[in-house]
Amino acid sequence: MRQVDLHTPEHPLILVTGGMGYIGSHTVVELLQSGYQVIIVDNLSNSTVKVLDGIEKITGIRPYFENVDCLDYVALDKIFIKYIGIQAVIHFAARKAVGESVEKPLLYYRNNIASLINILELMPRHDVKHIVFSSSCTVYGQPKPEDLPVNEQAPIQPATSPYGNTKQINEEIINDTVHANIGINAIMLRYFNPIGAHPSAEIGELPIGVPNNLLPFVSQTAIGLRGELKIFGNDYNTPDGTCIRDYINVVDLAKAHVVALQRMLSDKMEEKVEVFNLGTGRGLSVMEIVKTFEQVNNVKVPYKIVGRREGDIEQVWADPTKANTVLGWKAQETVENTLQSVWRWEQKLKIKREQQIEESKLSE
Ligand code: NAD
Ligand code: UDP
Repeated sequence: MRQVDLHTPEHPLILVTGGMGYIGSHTVVELLQSGYQVIIVDNLSNSTVKVLDGIEKITGIRPYFENVDCLDYVALDKIFIKYIGIQAVIHFAARKAVGESVEKPLLYYRNNIASLINILELMPRHDVKHIVFSSSCTVYGQPKPEDLPVNEQAPIQPATSPYGNTKQINEEIINDTVHANIGINAIMLRYFNPIGAHPSAEIGELPIGVPNNLLPFVSQTAIGLRGELKIFGNDYNTPDGTCIRDYINVVDLAKAHVVALQRMLSDKMEEKVEVFNLGTGRGLSVMEIVKTFEQVNNVKVPYKIVGRREGDIEQVWADPTKANTVLGWKAQETVENTLQSVWRWEQKLKIKREQQIEESKLSE
């Protein structure tokens, strides 16, 4: 396996918190393939150490990994000391389940806010100047019809869940901290709906328990793990009555982080805090996603229409012009290819489950 040297200026060292997770792992792959050295900090609260094997299979490189909780200031401090010369932080680590955040708000406020505060306090202490932060289109709530597609100037709406509120508060904390002139700049990326898996099917989304998000539920239904998909409402004011979202391929999303990092490291930022929408610019309905999934993968997704899910936004999709022009980044992947990658990943997970059953039988 290729070993990396921590102290080569041509391979900047990047700290990726939450790098074992869904979006983080895909971003680590893109970083490694672009010549960056990566240290992942993750407490594995929503991921497994096996993700490292997937990253290594794709890239030929095993990134540094530290099983550390971002809430642990002292342990995090030691990471900055151990890996001297960190150039930037990409901060993915957060809890993200909307429903759980309603039941356990303090868990969310502590985890998502205190983690960021620790990072922002430690960065200047260790002379780290750049942070890329994972934000969300949830900050826009339901935009007014005249604000669709939504751009970065659209008003921020009151959050509808503690999770959404943590993203808004995090954005405010970053703004205030950067403007206090402690030598930090930040790029905040507002993701729309990330879907799909790496084309190799070596990494992908690993929902624990019953999935909340649409795509893992669709693919688990298609493979027979779930009886049927519940489509939450077909009486919305949209062409087919189901909700509309901007589904963005996770590898495209990951690549945007590399571009954002390059912008920061080459001192191209025009403001100390920059915000970018990361979406395709195209809205698709739940029904369009289900039908396209069935068609491109030649599988059935049994579904039934049920009542609306509380708190759902009727329709939102991105105006990604700023990311297209300023970052020079554009979503490339078709929704058809992306939905095929979801299916390949689901099939890979099935094989892994079957292997585990065989192994446990043999060890009995
Ligand atoms: P994920 O749960 O797959 O990954 C998050 C990772 O962070 C996990 O590996 C988890 O173990 C780790 N983590 C959580 N708290 C931690 C802590 N205190 N210390 C160390 N590690 C910790 O989630 P994801 O989908 O990859 O999301 C990544 C980021 O993007 C999150 O900030 C999320 O809020 C944001 N985001 C996600 C979506 C989405 O739909 N997936 C949309 C918008 C924004
Ligand atoms: N959705 C659905 N059934 C599910 C999960 C989601 O009909 O089992 C719908 C949901 O109502 C929304 C869309 O799919 O309109 C995307 O939901 P998801 O939770 O993936 O993302 P978010 O609501 O955060 O945009």
